Amino acid sequence: MVLADLGRRLNAALSSLNRAPVVDEVVLDALLKEVCAALLESDVNVKLVSQLRQKVKTKVKATFETSGDKLKEANRKNVVQKAIFDELVHLVDPGVEPYKPKKGHPNVIMAVGLQGNGKTTTCTKLAVHYQKRGFKSCIVCADTFRAGAFDQTRQSATKAKVAYFGSYTETDPVAIAAQGVAKFKKEKFEVIIVDTSGRHKQESELFEEMVQIGHAVQPDMTVLVLDASIGQAAEAQSRAFKDSANFGAIIVTKMDGHAKGGGAISAVAATQTPIIFLGTGEHLTDLDRFAPQPFISKLLG
Ligand code: GDP
Repeated sequence: MVLADLGRRLNAALSSLNRAPVVDEVVLDALLKEVCAALLESDVNVKLVSQLRQKVKTKVKATFETSGDKLKEANRKNVVQKAIFDELVHLVDPGVEPYKPKKGHPNVIMAVGLQGNGKTTTCTKLAVHYQKRGFKSCIVCADTFRAGAFDQTRQSATKAKVAYFGSYTETDPVAIAAQGVAKFKKEKFEVIIVDTSGRHKQESELFEEMVQIGHAVQPDMTVLVLDASIGQAAEAQSRAFKDSANFGAIIVTKMDGHAKGGGAISAVAATQTPIIFLGTGEHLTDLDRFAPQPFISKLLG
């Protein structure tokens, strides 16, 4: 089920409460069954879904019990709706504040992720985002694995009017990353984005490379770029990168497509890491800031 359908289905389930004459355990169970089915069909991890069900039930029961018969039917509905809303927010909110770049300081942001996830595109989008907000921004292409990676960076950075660094001859990504970051620090750049190699699958060489580049450039923030359309695989992929690159933020790309999105939600819980942006298209301005509460509000329409 794609994300828009998930929103519609959750919304329909919550609205069905308004038609129920009384809110009792049977009604709550039926509602939770529908909410959970919708989340599972969107690829949200089964354990997270069952936790959500339990937490909502416990919260609602506790409120009903403490207020006894005093609670009017309309208020009972509100209690249920709020409990579900809060737990949906909790799914995409690990409660961790992501790093915020500071002006007048060389903020190094390292992007990691598998090939095709949208890493290179996202690096340029990020540079454009920060440049618009007054940060002197640039990109270092430390992807020596994929033929044409530097050309892609060069083209998109030129289009975006963002400074870039890379090499056609140097084959050591760690050396390129270190040189590029040192050069841009000297030139007083404020947001230095390091684009790293990807591979088609999780491989030990890739993770070793991430560790080495991390040591060389000492990023202030490492971002995992995750494709929304990879479904359940997002959880294992994010765990594997967490162990080597210890990212502090996630950017989910291709949210404009037919992505289910639930896998990315599971990655947040699996790694206790916040999503900071959503990629919503191929253009350089297709990057939306992510915040848990507005995201769930919008999802529910
Ligand atoms: P990389 O291998 O991870 O560096 O991936 P690229 O940046 O080369 O992107 C792979 C493909 O995904 C390209 O065709 C991009 O235009 C596309 N892409 C990246 N982000 C998005 C997005 O948010 N939405 C859509 N629709 N396409 C995207």
